[in-house]
Amino acid sequence: MLFNLAILFATVLAMEGVGTLAHKYIMHGWGWWLHRSHHQPQLGMLETNDVYLVALALIATGLVALGKAGHTPLQWVGGGVAGYGLLYVLAHDGWFHRHWPRKLRPANRYLKRLHRAHRLHHAVKGRQGCVSFGFFYAPPLAVLKRQLRARRTHIER
Ligand SMILES: [Zn+2]
Ligand SMILES: [Zn+2]
Repeated sequence: MLFNLAILFATVLAMEGVGTLAHKYIMHGWGWWLHRSHHQPQLGMLETNDVYLVALALIATGLVALGKAGHTPLQWVGGGVAGYGLLYVLAHDGWFHRHWPRKLRPANRYLKRLHRAHRLHHAVKGRQGCVSFGFFYAPPLAVLKRQLRARRTHIER
């Protein structure tokens, strides 16, 4: 049991790395056409960007199914992927983008930094020149601001 829980937690942690890379190289790369809606003013409850969430759910379901079919540890990997997806929806959709009915104030420095860093991610409207691609880890804000400034002058030239 303990081993399985370790797999679950390790997967959730690893998913932040996977998520950051996917956001940077897929969603802001060849998958931009789906993610673009998320960098534009939102019209309804759903956006094409949600397709990524569906993909994540399918991957999690597939892993759990493989686990049930005999490759037991994969169930817990699938659980970790699903857990990460859930945390993503709660933090990113609900809290960063204020889809929850109540406004929540960042309770500590870590959450404050996370919240501001995602604001800075959305400070750039286009595909290129964005900073901070993680959802649960953010570089120091001073670093992000410096990056943004450097990229802006680079783009203007
Ligand atoms: Zn983005
Ligand atoms: Zn966002």
